[in-house]
Amino acid sequence: MARDLARKRERDRARWASLTPEQRAAKNARVRARHAANPGYWRKRKYDLTSEAYDAMKEAQAGRCAVCKEVFTSTPSVDHDKATGQVRGLLCHQCNINRVGAHTVETARKVLAYLEHWSQHEP
Ligand SMILES: [Zn+2]
Repeated sequence: MARDLARKRERDRARWASLTPEQRAAKNARVRARHAANPGYWRKRKYDLTSEAYDAMKEAQAGRCAVCKEVFTSTPSVDHDKATGQVRGLLCHQCNINRVGAHTVETARKVLAYLEHWSQHEP
């Protein structure tokens, strides 16, 4: 799967590199128009999550990140289990990228043990 994705990215890069600046601009404009006309398209395609379900999740979380509980200041990220695809919750960008997205339960336990170890040391 990861190898397929790497191959696809390589093909996409090669295809993009073969385009003229005018073709790239035209393609970007088409993509922007499609996104503007279909809000939530990628969320539905990637996570099978409708805009209504996304909004309901956001409301159920009171507009706050499921990890740090801060109020969202930008579009929340959809956190999902990479192995199963199951949507778990909405996270702020920092939690999605650095706090949850970078970890498994096992690595999170190691990080916690590391932080607890060093919190007991005097500076
Ligand atoms: Zn957060």
